[in-house]
Amino acid sequence: MISVRDGQNRILDRITAIAPPELVPVVDTLDRVLAEDIQAPFDVPPSDNSAIDGYAVGSGDIPGSGTRDLVVIADLPAGSVFDGALAPGQAIRIMTGAPMPAGADTAYPQEIVEREANRVRIGALDKGANVRRRGEDIANGAVVVQAGVPLRPQEVGVLTSLGFVQALVHSRPRVALLSTGDEVAEPGTVRKPGQIYDSNRFTLRGSIARAGGEVIDLGIVPDRREDLRARLLDAASMADVVVSSGGVSVGIFDLVKEVLEEIGGIEFWQVAMQPGRPLAMGSIGRAHFFGLPGNPVASMLAFMLFVRPAIYKLAGRRRLFPETFHARAEEPMRKKTGRREFKRAILRYAADERTWHVRTTGPQGSGILSSMVVGNCLVILDEDRGDVSPGELVEVEPF
Ligand code: AMP
Ligand code: MG
Repeated sequence: MISVRDGQNRILDRITAIAPPELVPVVDTLDRVLAEDIQAPFDVPPSDNSAIDGYAVGSGDIPGSGTRDLVVIADLPAGSVFDGALAPGQAIRIMTGAPMPAGADTAYPQEIVEREANRVRIGALDKGANVRRRGEDIANGAVVVQAGVPLRPQEVGVLTSLGFVQALVHSRPRVALLSTGDEVAEPGTVRKPGQIYDSNRFTLRGSIARAGGEVIDLGIVPDRREDLRARLLDAASMADVVVSSGGVSVGIFDLVKEVLEEIGGIEFWQVAMQPGRPLAMGSIGRAHFFGLPGNPVASMLAFMLFVRPAIYKLAGRRRLFPETFHARAEEPMRKKTGRREFKRAILRYAADERTWHVRTTGPQGSGILSSMVVGNCLVILDEDRGDVSPGELVEVEPF
């Protein structure tokens, strides 16, 4: 029996080849992982400019007390540059975003001045007020987005603001996926007596896509040795990662382990965790193989713990594990020492106490997929701890 942490480390140690980079239009880079640091090729904003609609003045004209009248010599819309310079006693009407004219360093909002004909009356104001400084957002040469970061909408926007139209991102790891089991039926077909509709392939398809992988769906394989062998070999020939569910426990039709010993390298693990104990890990040809448990919660959880970090690493991500935090248990929780347990649970913020509270979703059987629907987090209980009493702090990972 190995620990969750050991299993994760062993898997990550085997992954040495990262998905190669490709040049992609910036508009298509959402959720892709950047393959190089992005350096700003110029200052943002490129020049000092007005943060308000109002009047640009030189600070030499700001009255120490009382008011002063200045002559308004021009209107300056955003997108235009004033090609002269402001002389003492002069102001320019300026719009938000317009570059500050030469000779002006301070902007008065139009709400705090009095305008009459071509004159504007101003009062006291701090030098430099309401001016956005050149480079205050991003300085020329600064690294704005680092390699290994998955791009969110704001990173995409920063790239376009810097004038980039293409970016170097990692290609998506190809992940071939199949379900095993004579009892597993394709949704949309007639379900024979004794059959259940496939759920694992669809929770896993979504999980793979969310992790940044490209799904190759190879359907359902019956519990026949030849079929499984052929399908796994096929999968390995077209993917970086092969994921199956079911067939890894000790039933007489649990063939994944046997077949894998024939066609690839296998490590079969009993991971000290609940749910989702048996897991087959290994390789077929150049593909990494993950034989996940058949029970729907166990397969999803094993994906989160073992496959997701592997896909992240292949995809070039730097952060491989999610943030967790602590919440107060609202109820007792049973826990056996010597293994890591994962409860599906519901997080709730108690505003009066300013803490997060957590309670389980109820029955925790590894076949109860609805617990993942009702729940919004995992409670992670470490190997060495026992039962949880109400009020204790426990580690949680939102999902
Ligand atoms: P196994 O490890 O193949 O014995 O499967 C363990 C349990 O998970 C059995 O109750 C299976 O029916 C169920 N199971 C296996 N594959 C799937 C699947 N793709 N979708 C839903 N349940 C499954
Ligand atoms: Mg089976």
